[in-house]
Parts: sequence; C-alpha cells; structure tokens
Amino acid sequence: MNYEPVIGLEVHVQLKTKSKLFCSCSTEFGAEGNKHTCPVCLGWPGSLPVVNEKALKLAIKAGLALNCKVAERLKFDRKHYFYPDLPKAYQISQYDMPVNGRGWLDIETKTTDDRLQTTAKKIGITRAHLEEDAGKLLHENIADGSLVDYNRGGIPLLEIVSEPDLRSPQEAYDYLTALKAILQYVEVSDCDMEKGSLRCDANVSVRPVGQEKFGTKVEIKNLNSFKMAQKAIQYEMERQTEALEGGETIVQETRLWNDAQGTTSSMRSKEEAHDYRYFPEPDLVPFTLSRAAVSEIRKTLPELPLEKAKRFIKEFAIPEYDAYVLVQEKKLAEYFENCVKEGGNPKLIAKRILNEFLAALSESKKTIEDCGVQPKDMVELSKLEENNTISSTTVKIVMAKMVLTLNSPAVIIKEEGLAQVSDTGLIERAAEKAIAANPAAVAEFKAGKQKALGALVGAVMKETGGKANPQLANEILRKKLSS
Ligand SMILES: [Zn+2]
Repeated sequence: MNYEPVIGLEVHVQLKTKSKLFCSCSTEFGAEGNKHTCPVCLGWPGSLPVVNEKALKLAIKAGLALNCKVAERLKFDRKHYFYPDLPKAYQISQYDMPVNGRGWLDIETKTTDDRLQTTAKKIGITRAHLEEDAGKLLHENIADGSLVDYNRGGIPLLEIVSEPDLRSPQEAYDYLTALKAILQYVEVSDCDMEKGSLRCDANVSVRPVGQEKFGTKVEIKNLNSFKMAQKAIQYEMERQTEALEGGETIVQETRLWNDAQGTTSSMRSKEEAHDYRYFPEPDLVPFTLSRAAVSEIRKTLPELPLEKAKRFIKEFAIPEYDAYVLVQEKKLAEYFENCVKEGGNPKLIAKRILNEFLAALSESKKTIEDCGVQPKDMVELSKLEENNTISSTTVKIVMAKMVLTLNSPAVIIKEEGLAQVSDTGLIERAAEKAIAANPAAVAEFKAGKQKALGALVGAVMKETGGKANPQLANEILRKKLSS
C-alpha cells in the first residue's frame, strides 16, 4: 500500500518590540540572567498585565501579509500548565478569539528533482495568535540542580498555525522558507533561528493514498532549522508507514527530534486543549479593533516576495527560478534591483549574484548588508565580462577579491594582472602543452567527440591562470588538432 504524509506546521515567531508583551521590561537578547524582569512577568500576586500596542500592531501586520481575517473583537486567555519556566503556572495566550483568523500563504515548491522546476501551491493558515514566551531553564554545567532565566518570559510571540495542507518534507521546507521571507519583508521579526526568534513544531500523520480521513498525528518538537524540520518529517513519515504496515497503531504523542541520531523519540503523550483548562484572562478585558486602525496598518504593507518575483520575471525577463531565489532574502532582492538600476544586464547580474557573489560572501563570512560591495562595482564587473575583458573564470577571482578589499574590478584586474589574454603566441604555447598532456582527450576529439575539446580548453585556461580568451583558445586548439 502507498502512504502519503499529512503535515501541518506551528511556527512561533518573536515580534520585534523593545519591551515585553504585558510589561515594560526590555526584550534585549543575551542580557545577564533575570535582569529584565518585574512583578508582571514574574507573576507576582496583584500585578496587572497591559497589552503592548506595538506587538498587537505587528501581529496584525503579519496577519494581513498572510491574508488572514483580522478579528473585529479579540480577547486573551490563560493556558494552564505547570513548569518551572512559567512562574504564573499559566501562559497568557489566545484561544477562541485570536487576533488573526483564517488566511493562506502562496508558496513555490519543488515538485521534482529538477532544481529549476517549481509549482505554485496555496497553503491554508488556520490562525495566527499572540502569546507570551516562557523563561529558559539551564541544566548544563550545573552540579547541584538547574537554573532558570526569566528574561525571555513575557516576550511577545506570534504563533502561526498552518492547515494540514502540506504533503511532503520538501513542501514543508518551502513553506517555512516562504513564511520567513514574508515575515522579514513586513519587518515584524528578525526571524533569527539561532537566537530562537523563529521556532517550529511539526504535526505529522500518514494515510493510504486515496483515503480522505486523516491518520493519527504526532507532534515533533526541537526543530532548530528548516533542514532539520525537513529531515525529521521524512523520518517520521517512514517510521509511521513502517509501523502501520507492521499492523501497529500510531499513538498520539509529542516526540523530540534528535539531530545527531537522525531519529525522533517519544517525549510525552499529546495534550488536548481541555488539558490546559483555557479560560478568559480576567485581567485583560476583550476589546474591539477599529477597522480604520487595521486599514492604516494594511497601507504600510510593502511589496511581498512573490509579487516581487513575478515583477522581476516580467520586467527583467530573468529565469523564474533565479527570481524566486533572489526574493527569499529582501536585501538580496534589493541589491539585485539596485544593480539593474545602475545599468546592469539583469540576467547576467542575477546569475553572478546567486552564484559567485553568494559564494564569496559565505567564504568571507560576510552578509549582503555588511559586505560594502557597491552595486556600481558589480555592474562594472559584469560589463567587463560581457565585453570579454575577463573570462567567467576570472569573474570568480575578482568577485572574491572585491568582497575582501572593496576595490573596484578595474583596480583588482590591474593589480592582479587578470585581464584576458588575447596574445595568440601565449595561447598557442599553452595549447601545445595542453595537447601534449592530454592524449586521451586528443584521441577522443579526433574520433569525432566534440565534447572532448572542453577538457583541452580547460587545460589552456588553467595554464594561463584563467586569463586566456576562451574563444581564442578554442579556435587555436581546433586549428592545431586538425592540422
Ligand atoms: Zn516584566
């Protein structure tokens, strides 16, 4: 029997505010333990929460970008559970009147192994509600017990719950990538997974292909990167399929992903909503959101990633795949567009940014924001390539130097002596060497295999340090081999 997975994702994203959700404590990351705490976020008796207006506005902005129906009336609820990182023994969250109701997210997903092929898919959003974060327990390197840091307690989170619309680990990965991009575009969160500003849990079940009823779902926690989520879902799919085929039943539970082992293991049986004894937060009365305020927020929405990609394809005629990758990072998309404004050839610029430029950035551990490479230099480099002053091999070398030194391509090419060589004498000598050193390629070419010439051109390029004009090298080699 063939099984298919049914996947829903819960993403917690930290909203970019200076203070916490219900008090004025700072949200500074990495401060000394318990520095940012007060009676409200420590849950002292008699203290009263006040809703952070900025957090509410950011939540609405995110909801609008996700096509959600923003509530007319909303309230907060207490979600009860006992754990040392939760001083009140309840979390203030939202239950039946969340700020954002139903919406959707359009994604481009890779449905085949061909990396250049993507398909559009609409993924439903169930809700996106506000809640406060819990504190953090520290168990490591402490001999006699554990420590707790409440700096994170009370930080505003938006929990974005998707419908169980995802059908493969790859789709889950593409959904997370698209979601992160949107949240960054609308500037509601820095989405830094290393600082825990974006966290993800996955609900996974499997069912026989063709069956409509969902199987029993398992929640997977501890997914610290999108790649981890993809791997964990893949593992869980296989585990459940194997169990069902062996006649076992799936238990509804919460499982933890162990990245080192590449497996999930049971953590606890899954709670149902009634286990949390939700009830309205008596210290915060339900309130009405004015439609005028919501439309004011709607006016601040920027062009979103998918719209931008479609515009790039239409306006600049760049390949679809390049457009979708460029828009995943707002800064990268802006950089590309600035280069085009400076007069760059869009197709070539997109290609060089996505390949050599990103490679040079990662090599030098710089980001697009802090690298300092001016769009005009990027355009200059592409022009030098277009008019054959440098070969595409040299582009890579110049790009790396440009990221390191911030010098203009012309200066780098001069200093390093990288200009393309059209000196036939030099290329001829290199061609002779290449022919002598590669008898197998020569024999293949002579037997009619045109492709074999590529290896010889490569050898000439290597001999000349990537400076030979490839077209000239090609011609000279052909002449020598046919004589
Ligand atoms: Zn506080």
